Amino acid sequence: ESAIAAVTGWQSNGTRINFKETPVRQLFGTNVFSEEVMRARLPEHVFKAIKNTIKKGAPLDSGIADVVATVMKEWAIEKGATHYTHWFQPMTGLTAEKHDSFLSPTDNGSAIAEFSGSELVRGEPDASSFPSGGIRATFEARGYTAWDATSPAFILENPNGTTLCIPTAFCSWTGEALDKKTPLLRSMEALSKQALRILKLFGSNASRVHTTCGPEQEYFLIDQNFYYARPDLMNAGRSLFGAKPPKGQEMEDHYFGAIPERVLACMLEGELELYKLGVPVKTRHNEVAPAQYEIAPLFENANVATDHNMLVMETLKRVAGRYGLQMLLHEKPFAGVNGSGKHLNWSMADDEGNNLLKPGDTPHENAQFLLFLAAVIRAVARHGDLLRVSIATASNDHRLGANEAPPAIISIFLGDQLQDIVEQIEKGGAKSTKAGGTMTVGVTTLPTLPRDAGDRNRTSPFAFTGNKFEFRAVGSSQSIGGPNVVLNTIAAESIDEIATHLEKAVAAGKDLNTEIQALLPKLIAESKHVIFNGDGYTEAWHKEAESRGLPNRKTTVDSLPDLITPKSIALFGKYGVFSEREIHSRYEILLENYKKTINIESQITIQMANRQILPAALRYQSELAQSIGNLKAAGASAPKAQTDLLNDVSATIEDLLTKTHTLSKAVEAHVSGDSLAHAKYSLDVIIPAMNAVRAAGDKLEGLVPDDLWPLPTYQEMLFIK
Ligand code: ADP
Ligand code: MG
Repeated sequence: ESAIAAVTGWQSNGTRINFKETPVRQLFGTNVFSEEVMRARLPEHVFKAIKNTIKKGAPLDSGIADVVATVMKEWAIEKGATHYTHWFQPMTGLTAEKHDSFLSPTDNGSAIAEFSGSELVRGEPDASSFPSGGIRATFEARGYTAWDATSPAFILENPNGTTLCIPTAFCSWTGEALDKKTPLLRSMEALSKQALRILKLFGSNASRVHTTCGPEQEYFLIDQNFYYARPDLMNAGRSLFGAKPPKGQEMEDHYFGAIPERVLACMLEGELELYKLGVPVKTRHNEVAPAQYEIAPLFENANVATDHNMLVMETLKRVAGRYGLQMLLHEKPFAGVNGSGKHLNWSMADDEGNNLLKPGDTPHENAQFLLFLAAVIRAVARHGDLLRVSIATASNDHRLGANEAPPAIISIFLGDQLQDIVEQIEKGGAKSTKAGGTMTVGVTTLPTLPRDAGDRNRTSPFAFTGNKFEFRAVGSSQSIGGPNVVLNTIAAESIDEIATHLEKAVAAGKDLNTEIQALLPKLIAESKHVIFNGDGYTEAWHKEAESRGLPNRKTTVDSLPDLITPKSIALFGKYGVFSEREIHSRYEILLENYKKTINIESQITIQMANRQILPAALRYQSELAQSIGNLKAAGASAPKAQTDLLNDVSATIEDLLTKTHTLSKAVEAHVSGDSLAHAKYSLDVIIPAMNAVRAAGDKLEGLVPDDLWPLPTYQEMLFIK
C-alpha cells in the first residue's frame, strides 16, 4: 500500500533534458574516443595505423600504443576522467571493470598523471573470481585483458566521478578465452577470411568482411517500490509467485500505445546518455505486454554492436533508477504475461559498405547474393543445434516454445517470394516462374523482394527480412556475443566449402556462373528441410519438424550437450574460434549457471513461502476461525459457506506446507554425478517441486484479503505506472 502511494505520488523532477538547447547532433558520441577524435588528435601515421587495425583487422604495432595512450589520456582528463578501466565481458554475462587511477606517485611526494601504451594494451585483473569452467586452476588465477582497438574507448559519467573505459578481451595467461569478446573477434575474423574468397571470385577488391548486427531489445519497467517489496524480482529477476491479473494483455491495448509520461522521461534520459556514448538508438515503443517496452539501435559491426547492447542494458537500468523505475531484463519476469526477447538482426558487409545479403539490381550481384544466402541456409540446416545452444539459459527456457516466442526448433522463414526463387533454383531454374521467365544465375535479375516479408511471421526463430536474417529466439538478458559467434562460425564453414569448390572449378578453367548454377540446387537440396514458412506455434509443426529430423531441444539441459559433440568441437577448432578445452569449459560454465539459477530460485521460493505467504495465510485463517467462533459464542451458527472457506484456506495452507517441505528436501538432497547430472536434477526434480509450491501460494493469493497479502500483485506491478 505504501508502495502504491509512493507510485501514484511520483512527481517529475522537472526537465532534465533540453534537446532544443543541445541538439542530438551535438551530443552524439561526445563521450567516445571516436575516429574523428583520433583523426584530429593523433599524428597522421599513428592514425593511419590505428585505422588499418579497425577497418581491416591489421595487427597493431606496439610502438603505436604509447602515442595513442598519451592522447587518449589527455582527452579523457579533459572530459574530467580521473580513472581508467579495462572494460570486459566475462562469462557472468555482465560487464566488468577494474578501475585504476591515472595518478602515479613521483619521487618528490606528489603525483603525476600516467597512462602508458602498456597500460592501454594490457591489464591484469585478478581472474579468480570469474567463471572459467575449470580452465584456470587457482594457482594460475591471473588473467589479462587486451585492448580491442576495433571497439572505441568511451567515458562513463557518474555524478561523483568519471571513468575512461577501454573495451578489452579477457584471457587466461595460457591464452584461453575467459570472456565473450575473444571468441567473437575470432569468429568475425574467420567469417571475413572465408567471405573474402567468394568476393574475390566475383572480382571484388574488398579487404574485410564485417558481421553487422542490430539487436532489438525488449524489457519491462516497473516501479521500484514494488520491486523492492519482491524478494523474487530482486534476487531472481522474475516473480516466483503471483496469480494472473484479471486483465492481462488480452486487450492488446498496450502495444504501440502512448508511452506513459514517467516512462517516456526515463527513456529520453537513457537515450541521451546512450547518444553521448555513441550508441545509435533509433526506435522506442511499447511492446505486447503491459509495462513492456522495446529499444532498437541502427546496426553496427558485430563487435561494436555487442558492446553497445551491453551499454544499452546497463545504461537504461541505471537511468531507470533516477525515475524510481526498475528495469527488468529477465526473459520471463511474469508468468502468463509475454516475456522479453532480443531480435538479433544479422548480416555481412564488406569494407566498401556492400551488404552481402542484399539482393542486387544486376544479375552479377544476384548470383553473389544467392550464394551467400544459400550458404547461410545450409549453415543453419547443419548447425541448428548450436544456434539453440547459443540461446540456452534457464531464463530463456520460459519463453521458447511457450507460444509467444519462437519454438525451440530452429527453422528458417524465407517468405513467399524468396521461397519461390529457392524452389526454382532447386529445380535448376528451368520452370517458368511467378516472376515470369526462367531463372538463370548470372543472367536473370531477381524480382525486388519485400523488405518486411519476415514480419508477417513472428513465430519463426530465424527469418530472412529482406536484406538480413533476424534471429528471434535470443533472450532479452543475454549478450549477443554468443549467438553471433555461432552464426559467424557456421557461416564461415559453409562459405569456406563453397569457396573451395568454386576456386577449384575456376582454376580448372570453368565458367563461374555455370558452376554456381550447378552448385546452388545442391546446396538447397541439402538444406531445404530447415526451411519452414508456416506457423511455428502449432503442434503439427512439432510433429513435422521431428519427421524432418530437426532437433527439438525443449530445455537448456537437453540442448547443452550439443556443444561438446565431435561435430561442434571440429567446427570451432577448424576456424580457431574455440579450442576443445575452451568448449568444454564453456559447457561447464553454462551447466553451472543453469544449476545456480534454479538453486537461487528454489531458495527464494522456500523463503517467501515460509516467511511471507504462510504467515499471511495463517493470520487470515485465524481471523476466519475467530469470526466463526464469535458467531458461535453469540449463539448464532456460522453459515456453511464460511466454514467451507475456512476449510479451503486450511487445506491450501497444508498444501503449501507440504509442497514447501518437499522442495526443501529436494534442495538439500545429495546429488551425485557430473554437472550434467546436477542440471538434470534441477530440471526434473527441483523445478516441478518449485512449481507446486507456487501453485499453492498463488491459490492463497486468491483467498487472502488484500490488506493481509504481503506482496505487490501482478495487477499492481504491471498496471500502476
Ligand atoms: P523491423 O522491421 O524488424 O523493425 P528494421 O528495418 O527497423 O526492421 O530493423 C530492425 C533492426 O535491424 C535495426 O536495428 C536495424 O538497424 C537492423 N538492420 C537493418 N539492416 C541490417 C543489416 N544489414 N545488418 C544487421 N542489422 C540490420
Ligand atoms: Mg524486427
